[in-house]
Amino acid sequence: MLRLDGVEVSYGAVRAVSDLSLDVAPGEVVALVGANGAGKSSTLKAILGLVKASGHIRLDGEDVSGKPAHLRVAAGLALSPEGRHVFPQMSVRENLELGTVKRTSGATKELLEEMMTIFPRLRERIRQRAGSMSGGEQQMLAIARALMSRPKVLMLDEPTLGLAPLIVDQIGDLVGVLKKRGLSILLSEQNAEMALDVADRAYVLETGRIVKSGESQIIKADPAVRSAYLGFAEEPA
Ligand code: ATP
Repeated sequence: MLRLDGVEVSYGAVRAVSDLSLDVAPGEVVALVGANGAGKSSTLKAILGLVKASGHIRLDGEDVSGKPAHLRVAAGLALSPEGRHVFPQMSVRENLELGTVKRTSGATKELLEEMMTIFPRLRERIRQRAGSMSGGEQQMLAIARALMSRPKVLMLDEPTLGLAPLIVDQIGDLVGVLKKRGLSILLSEQNAEMALDVADRAYVLETGRIVKSGESQIIKADPAVRSAYLGFAEEPA
């Protein structure tokens, strides 16, 4: 569904992402795991066209590399950004409406109903100002707003950042629900434990390069990954 070939991102002299290739199959959850500054956000921004990148990005067989961000969204890519970035003064409904691509009132109404079914808390809060909600609720809103464009591939950038363990679990469950609905998901996380639990496959990113990839459970059992990202000391030799 999504394929990156040799993607590179630089900010002036700083190379943030080097020769990155990855793919996400239809209905698959793929985790991009790495420390702060490893290049996860830059990769997601490159996929959406928010930063300049070289290399190729294909969505469902279509090369979207040369397209501006709004056309990539129309083609089926959506991003829930790191830090949520909901519009605090606007209501939950208005935030959701801004996520739509085809703004016919019938289609928007149907999508709103669908989001309120997936996220019952948003139904309760639909007229409330987004900025008055808790961090977890704002995160759910940011994900629902991304879903309003009916993406083929949903990208989640650090959806658990700064949230309580109970909410982290809820976000993990939500990823499972969205997967069951057939969505392909690329999940960028510093919380490797959560990401590797919910993903089918994972890529480990270090200073802009993929250093490991494979089935999540195999990556999770890797001693170097356990020591670097999961807080376990390596077994003495
Ligand atoms: P985080 O979780 O903190 O966002 P990350 O893995 O997503 O980390 P990036 O945000 O992609 O990493 O950053 C990768 C590298 O690019 C870092 O060295 C960062 O300092 C640098 N970088 C990111 N954005 C910019 C920018 N706008 N200008 C210059 N350097 C940047």
